[in-house]
Amino acid sequence: MTPNSQWNGQFSCFDLVAKTDEASRNVVHVGDLTIGGGRFVVMAGPCAVESERQILETAQAVAAAGARVLRGGAYKPRSSPYSFQGLGREGLKLLAKARKHTGLAIVTEVMDEEDVGLIAEYADIMQVGTRSMENYSLLEALGQCGRPVLLKRGMTARLEELMCSAQIIAAAGNPDIILCERGIRTFETATRNTLDIAAVPVLKTVSRLPVIVDPSHAAGVRALVPVLARAAAVVGADGLLVEVHPTPEKALSDGVQSLDFDEFEEMMRDLRRYIAIGPFLEDVHPELFVAGGND
Ligand code: PEP
Ligand code: MN
Repeated sequence: MTPNSQWNGQFSCFDLVAKTDEASRNVVHVGDLTIGGGRFVVMAGPCAVESERQILETAQAVAAAGARVLRGGAYKPRSSPYSFQGLGREGLKLLAKARKHTGLAIVTEVMDEEDVGLIAEYADIMQVGTRSMENYSLLEALGQCGRPVLLKRGMTARLEELMCSAQIIAAAGNPDIILCERGIRTFETATRNTLDIAAVPVLKTVSRLPVIVDPSHAAGVRALVPVLARAAAVVGADGLLVEVHPTPEKALSDGVQSLDFDEFEEMMRDLRRYIAIGPFLEDVHPELFVAGGND
C-alpha cells in the first residue's frame, strides 16, 4: 500500500502515528495480550465500578465469554453534578482485585492529569474519554505514564483531530495508543450518537494505530449493540469496548445500553463468524479516502 499523499502530506501534524507503509503498524502489548496484531480483542465490563460484588461477578462472566480486558470507570465524567461520580481510588482497588481473580487486563478512564500517576499504578490501559480528547495537558501527561492509552474520539471531533491528539501523546513519549470510535454528535436522535463506521477503515488506512469500536456509547440502547459490534468486526476493527452489567436495570450509569451476562455471551458467540470475514481493507487504495462530491 502506498502512502496517502493527502493525509500523510497535507496533514503532517500526525506523522508520528501515520501509516507510511504496510510494515509500520503499531502493535500494543499488554502483558501477553496484543492489540492490533491480528487478534480481535474484546474489552467489556460495567460503565462504572459500583461494588466489589458487581465488578468481580462481571469480570468472571466476561472472561468466561472470551473478553480479555475488563473495563470499568472509577472516575466518571458525568453530564450532571448530581449523577454518580464513581468510587475513585476504591474503584481502582476493586479493579485490581478483579484482575487478580480473572487474569483480565484493566482499562479505566483518567480525567485529570493529576490522577495519571495513581491510575497508572492500577490500570493496564489508560482510557481518555470523549470529553477529554482535547485536554492537551492530560494527553501530554499520558506521554510519560508508562501504560498504553485508549484514546476515544471526541464527540464532535474530526478524524484528523483525533489523529492530532494521538500525535500529542506520541510526541510526549508514548507510541502505545489505541484509537476508539464511539459515535459522534449529529442531527440524529434515534441513537445516542451516530456510529461513524467509516472511521474504522479510514483510520486503519491512514494511521498505524490499532482501532477499536465502542458500540455501547454509539447506540445508547442495548438492542443495537450486537449488530453494531458485527459491523465493527466486518470493517476490520481490532476489537471492541462494550458495557456489561449483572443487572443493567439497576446500574448507576448507562444501564440502558449495557448488556447482561447472557446477552454478552450470545454476542460473543455470534461475533465469531463476522470476525472471520474482516478485514479486507488491504485491497482498498488509500487515495480513495480523499473525499469528494457534493450533497
Ligand atoms: C465510558 O466509556 O464509560 C465513557 C464515559 O465513554 P465516552 O467517553 O465515550 O462517553
Ligand atoms: Mn458509560
